[in-house]
Amino acid sequence: MIYLDNAATTRTAPEVIDAMLPYFSEYYGNAGTVYSLGNKSRNAVMHAREIIADSISVKPDEIFFTAGGTESDNWAIKSAAEAYASKGRHIITSKIEHHAVLHTCQYLEKHGFEVTYLDVDSDGLIDIKELEAAVRPDTILISIMFANNEIGTIEPVKEIGELARAKGILFHTDAVQAYGQLPINADELNIDMLSASGHKLNGPKGVGFLYIRHGIKVGEFIHGGAQERGRRAGTENVPGIVGMGAAAERAMRIMNEKTAKEIRLRDYLIERLLKEIPYCRLNGHRTNRLPNNVNLSFLYIEGESMLIMLDMKGICASSGSACTSGSIDPSHVLLATGLKQDEARGSLRLTLSEENTREEMDIVVDELSGIASRLRRMSPLYEEY
Ligand SMILES: *Cc1c(COP(=O)(O)O)cnc(C)c1O
Repeated sequence: MIYLDNAATTRTAPEVIDAMLPYFSEYYGNAGTVYSLGNKSRNAVMHAREIIADSISVKPDEIFFTAGGTESDNWAIKSAAEAYASKGRHIITSKIEHHAVLHTCQYLEKHGFEVTYLDVDSDGLIDIKELEAAVRPDTILISIMFANNEIGTIEPVKEIGELARAKGILFHTDAVQAYGQLPINADELNIDMLSASGHKLNGPKGVGFLYIRHGIKVGEFIHGGAQERGRRAGTENVPGIVGMGAAAERAMRIMNEKTAKEIRLRDYLIERLLKEIPYCRLNGHRTNRLPNNVNLSFLYIEGESMLIMLDMKGICASSGSACTSGSIDPSHVLLATGLKQDEARGSLRLTLSEENTREEMDIVVDELSGIASRLRRMSPLYEEY
């Protein structure tokens, strides 16, 4: 098998599993209890919180564990809307956000908030001037992703943070793809809230965190007990949190080496595919993109058919985002970059890890060339062309 869908999820690293296992079997105490078994869990959660705070240069009590990226996005946006509604009811986001952000914004629109969805250019970048022009006296929140999960484009987060700070508007960023792949200093970037998820960086599924800067009066999201300083109730997912911490520690330790290798493989793959397969184009920014992301459109081909044929060769890929696969709608991200419906339908996302090799890239190029010409021979559109 060749696994090229690391933007959908990653393999849990063996060292992460090793770190987690004792917290199922031996140290199973509830972190909220007084005896030493519970203490063991409490200390493990504290340690994970410290590692994660350190990884984005913030303080441990600004980190709140959640059940993943989707929950963190929901919490940040809904709670900010609620907390700042007396100041205004306008939110700015972009057209290429993950559905965890877009659908949350649409929900708020039904509850009396107004949302501006910024356009992006053909590379998937928002325009700072357009963002500035969209700001109104009643704007309370800007939520723009750090890097896009489909096309890998990295947004101008520093500029967005500066603008938000200057205008006194909260800035939330969905960093689920960026965290672990790119260095992030939340303080320097003027980020007020940041979402991340364990399973995108070789950690376990179902755990993530939300960073909330000191002084931001975003309230509680899950009501119940006093866990996470009363802001996110529910018995701590101790093994998950330990795994998230171990994954963060590992990701920061190997980041330079990992991303250097991925960039070499990514650029090799892009270069060969563009050269050897006709009528194929790269989506997303050529250089300002995630180290592991390759996204291409193949004219006269359905992405879904490519996926099925790749799967028969043992290659795992995606036609966009895992959340939209199964639906026939073309990717909202690709449409926002100006692609036509059929160009967007013929897209393929290959997302690498440091475990991939150059030999695997060669196999993928060869298989894809064969698949593309076979599918095009069957395509009436291609024949007409
Ligand atoms: C995967 C992903 C999410 C959702 O995270 P989960 O932990 O799977 O809920 C949100 N945003 C982006 C950009 C993602 O890639």
